[in-house]
Amino acid sequence: MPDEIHKPPVGRFAPSPTGALHTGSLTTAVASWLMARSAGGRWLLRIDDLDAPRQVPGMADDIMRTLELYGLYWDGEVSRQSDNRGTYQHYFNELLTTGLVYPCGCSRRELALAASAPHPDDDCLPYPATCRGGMREGATVRSWRLRVPDEPVCFHDLHNGMVCQHLGDRCGDFAVRRGDGEITYQLAVVVDDHLTEVTQVVRGEDLLPSTPRQVYIQGLLGLALPAYCHIPLVAGPDGAKLSKRDNLVSHHLGSWRGKEGALLLGVLRFLGLNPPRGMAGAPCDEILRWGAGSFDVARLPAKGGELVVS
Ligand code: GLU
Repeated sequence: MPDEIHKPPVGRFAPSPTGALHTGSLTTAVASWLMARSAGGRWLLRIDDLDAPRQVPGMADDIMRTLELYGLYWDGEVSRQSDNRGTYQHYFNELLTTGLVYPCGCSRRELALAASAPHPDDDCLPYPATCRGGMREGATVRSWRLRVPDEPVCFHDLHNGMVCQHLGDRCGDFAVRRGDGEITYQLAVVVDDHLTEVTQVVRGEDLLPSTPRQVYIQGLLGLALPAYCHIPLVAGPDGAKLSKRDNLVSHHLGSWRGKEGALLLGVLRFLGLNPPRGMAGAPCDEILRWGAGSFDVARLPAKGGELVVS
């Protein structure tokens, strides 16, 4: 379908309102903005607010004001996962019809005890398929799990190339719905990107290990796969994990006041671009426009590292 091929891309940024933006999440926002805008595409903003206990009141607003401060304007209305609960149930019911979803009575604690090799970088404890054949008598439903395939799930990532994962080794049958009825991140994100016709998912490579689960769900639901690009992470000094406290860029903090452009230039350099010296002191929208004209996935760094602001 030639029309489809030439349609401008739709990118998105999907922060969870659990904390203010920091230099790492700002970098993800910039990368996804640049990738969409460099091809004349749209860029959407979605607030991933399903996980109520971890949310910080006012944070969604804080994130939006900060994006605006850096010239990262989005197209259309902001979407919120909490508005989509009914739709998620619809897709959960679709998954039920595959016969691959079953109720599980295991608690997180039981799973933690059973896990021989949990993946600390991931949200999953490998699940030993305890309830595949049925829950033990009298157990309450703690989650609804999706049976994983025996063969690996593969997809092409624009930065990391072909990524294949054997879901059974990584996470086993994983939860798509919690016992209290809330849909999990893995299913919600697939439904959201489908509903908003997102064609590009650019995000930090910490989310790469969970992407095969989403690709598997997309296949079962017959949904189109977006182009994925997992970008290297911004690290603290000496490669340490970025501390949020020291790197917040929230609009209401003074830490970067007046230096927003310098920070954006640092982000562009982190993403492999080489902005001209004359850009120093330019307003954010000009810097971003230059970035969109120069952005190239092939120039992304092989590995993450410190973001240097001069
Ligand atoms: N809400 C997720 C996060 O903040 C990102 C989801 C996504 O980009 O798919 O980590």
